[in-house]
Amino acid sequence: MNRMNNVILKDDQFSRFDEKIEAIIFEIILKHIKDLIYVMKVEDNGGFSYVFLNEEAKGHAKLTDDSIGKTLHEVLPLETANHLDEQYKSVMEKKEPVSFQDVVILADKRIVHGESILTPIFDDNGDITFIVSVTRDISARVADKEMITYMAYHDPLTGLPNRSSLKKDLDNAVEKAEMTNQNLALMFIDLDRFKFFNDSMGHVAGDHLLKAVGERLTSISEKSYKVFRQGGDEFIVILPNTSRELSEQFAQNVNRAFEKPFRLEAKEFFISASIGISIFPTDGSDGDSLIKNADTALYRAKELGRSLYQFYSFDLQKQTTHLMQLETGLRKAIEKNELEIYYQPQLDLSTDKVTSFEALLRWKHPVLGFVSPVEFIPIAEETGLILSIGEWIIQTVCRKLKQWKEYGYGSVSVSINLSPKQFQQPELVTMIQQNIEENQLYPGCLEFELTEGAMQDPKRTLQTLAKLKEIGVRISVDDFGTGYSSLSYIKKLPIDTLKIDQSFVKDVLRDEKDAAITTTIIHLAQSLGLSVIAEGVEVEQQVEFFKIMGCHKVQGYFFSKPIPEDEMVEHYLKNK
Ligand code: C2E
Ligand code: MG
Ligand code: MG
Repeated sequence: MNRMNNVILKDDQFSRFDEKIEAIIFEIILKHIKDLIYVMKVEDNGGFSYVFLNEEAKGHAKLTDDSIGKTLHEVLPLETANHLDEQYKSVMEKKEPVSFQDVVILADKRIVHGESILTPIFDDNGDITFIVSVTRDISARVADKEMITYMAYHDPLTGLPNRSSLKKDLDNAVEKAEMTNQNLALMFIDLDRFKFFNDSMGHVAGDHLLKAVGERLTSISEKSYKVFRQGGDEFIVILPNTSRELSEQFAQNVNRAFEKPFRLEAKEFFISASIGISIFPTDGSDGDSLIKNADTALYRAKELGRSLYQFYSFDLQKQTTHLMQLETGLRKAIEKNELEIYYQPQLDLSTDKVTSFEALLRWKHPVLGFVSPVEFIPIAEETGLILSIGEWIIQTVCRKLKQWKEYGYGSVSVSINLSPKQFQQPELVTMIQQNIEENQLYPGCLEFELTEGAMQDPKRTLQTLAKLKEIGVRISVDDFGTGYSSLSYIKKLPIDTLKIDQSFVKDVLRDEKDAAITTTIIHLAQSLGLSVIAEGVEVEQQVEFFKIMGCHKVQGYFFSKPIPEDEMVEHYLKNK
């Protein structure tokens, strides 16, 4: 806008304009301009009267040519007149331009956001004789600004208020709860195994799921509450004016909301969520500590099993410290020589011999003692440490295989577990190949175990598996039967072995369903020409069952627990 800063016009300057030029200037500058322009004369009594209106200005507030010479109060509704009178008076007082924004109804009845600038015009004595008012439609700018504000406080994917919004709203909610002496609950909600879902189904499906989850979370109950997307697969709910019992009910409703499957591209998926709850004022007196403590409770909920809710308590603090201790320790575990590989023999049921072993990682923490892989592998996955740990395992096993060959122990094969993250690592195949070459191994003596979850992206899985097969290593599907994979899909992949998950083996003698599942898997493997191993075989009758069913190998405590290398060499390699 062409701001007219303290323009001083002298009387004789007006007269110097010839009428024609004046008309042209008016035509060009004032009439065609889209701004609303008014020139007001400052009356001796302190009022303001119209001396000029451009075309745009005429339509506004029923102003017409007849309004010329009349005061604000003679022309405008009282409220508008008072409002403008105040602004004009402020120009008189400050002796400088004043700007303000308000809602303006235009000639064509459109209601817009207007920004007005009132500029004083001084005479020779320095008195203000006229005030020029220019009003511009800034609706587009306001809309942009509103949009920007909206975007700053909302998550574009789910449309839910975001983390910045949470900070603001939570502080307000805490303040209100404090003033009204009420309890407030903060729930930290995290989807179970979302990472797995995202890795296996792809990010587009992941996004759809998050959106659907957002919708489900906002339609839990009638009670007023607010849902935020904290980031990733984390959501936060603020439940004002509540109690421990009421928030517990709410958490149960959240869990229940996940009982129905999510439909994505005509497929149904079951996803559950875990919830950590902190209550104001018991578990924290400000927003940050409520979030932190709900997060701690969430961790605990996840540890205890999924699809659970858990309230914060002081004891939880200690347990979280334990997890952090593990993470810090794990970072140094390789260089401090705390990792060791145990080997579990696999018994070949047709020969009653052991020629293959599964390599299973063991961690001896200097303070915590033995830490189970079930506990630290997920941490290694989450932190990415699994890549260096995984590489260490492959290196170590390959060196051992070379050593055993040199000692003349006969043919031995070892299977190594690959985590989903490792499997996605682009350098994986090259790294494996280098290790095989360096140790001059027969590639077939290495088998890699993958869970179904690691192989859900069909194109990528096929590519990587094909490359692995090119090198000549074997591939097995670990924990078979627990993932999402369809049988037809398995058929298309270059797989050598299926490992029946322990959960089916455990009750195979008591539970007909488990017996049916295991038998089906064995038949499937046979018809596809795959070898099949039953995991977690603990009693002799199970061995008999699998022998009769035609299963190739069994692995489990009945025969042997995973054992250290020297023991394995002593028992199984030396005497061959
Ligand atoms: P998994 O690959 O399914 O390994 C089999 C697990 O079952 C091992 O647990 C083994 O000790 C246990 N097991 C064997 N026989 C029996 C039995 O008769 N009864 C019962 N109840 N359990 C039996 P472990 O060694 O604690 O490993 C647990 C999981 O940790 C493994 O499951 C695997 O997913 C992961 N893991 C272990 N080592 C590695 C590794 O080097 N890399 C990766 N990525 N994951 C590993
Ligand atoms: Mg395994
Ligand atoms: Mg397994």
